Amino acid sequence: MKGPKLTVIVVPVARCNLSCAYCYITAPSGGSMDDTILHTVFTKVFHYNGADAISEFIWHGFEPLLAGKRFYENVVKIQNQEFSQFPVVNRLQTNGTLLTSELAEFSTTNKFRLGVSLDGPQFIHDEYRRYPSGKGSFIDAMHGIDLIRRIGGSVAAIGVLTPLGAEHITDIYDFFKREKLDFDLLPVTLVRKDDKQSKALRLTPKQYATAAIELFDLWFSDSQPPQIRSCDSWTLAALGTTIGQECTYSGNCFARNITVDPCGNVWPCERFNGVDRFKLGNILTDSLTETIIPQGGGVASGEAEGD
Ligand code: SF4
Repeated sequence: MKGPKLTVIVVPVARCNLSCAYCYITAPSGGSMDDTILHTVFTKVFHYNGADAISEFIWHGFEPLLAGKRFYENVVKIQNQEFSQFPVVNRLQTNGTLLTSELAEFSTTNKFRLGVSLDGPQFIHDEYRRYPSGKGSFIDAMHGIDLIRRIGGSVAAIGVLTPLGAEHITDIYDFFKREKLDFDLLPVTLVRKDDKQSKALRLTPKQYATAAIELFDLWFSDSQPPQIRSCDSWTLAALGTTIGQECTYSGNCFARNITVDPCGNVWPCERFNGVDRFKLGNILTDSLTETIIPQGGGVASGEAEGD
């Protein structure tokens, strides 16, 4: 069985219950993805990837659990009833605060691979990942993780790395190891030059390199380390292969990844959702092979706004 030709991030809903200080999302808030768009995404992507490759759908962007359990029941129903000949993997990246016992049960039973956004110990996480009221989200995110684990489900974490986190790499590593959570750390993304908030919280290349080396050294010298996707990718790169697990290290991520927003608009990456100059088309009206994927190649050869 081959890996996916095209991995799709599906943004089911354009809303979030948190207001993280470094959030890069620029798209206006809005409703949920309807059935027509969902069917079109599945039809085009499953047929593009074919029955001998795994199609991977990542439910991510804003807070995907705001779409509600019925939305995901419908996802599973359509995949099982109409596309059962196509192998599929569903991943869901959530801030974890809306997980309930019911959702934990559903996602575990239906083999959704869950990722929870967690930046490290509470004093780091709550500094930036807050509700609009200002209250930190750490306790609720950890409760969500606990619900998944109580029923035997598996969950990993993805954290955003800020200058504060970069000063506390050992604390972050020890925290995830103590919690027995595999994790990854991604630096703050600057999508637009005028995004002052993200700009203030991003790392300089030197800060990121120093933090990455510290993280790698902790991981490499640990006899029982947690899995850290970036460390796996860096190791593969050092061994001479460009095929890492992450899109960032895959060589040409534009040829292998697209993001579809709730209105069917297609973007090369979830980070560029809502930035008009990166729009590749619309899944309802444009062909994947003739328009959307070739347009992605054009974006790859252009420049992002971040300097
Ligand atoms: S949880 Fe994600 S989408 Fe929501 S505010 Fe935080 S970074 Fe933005």
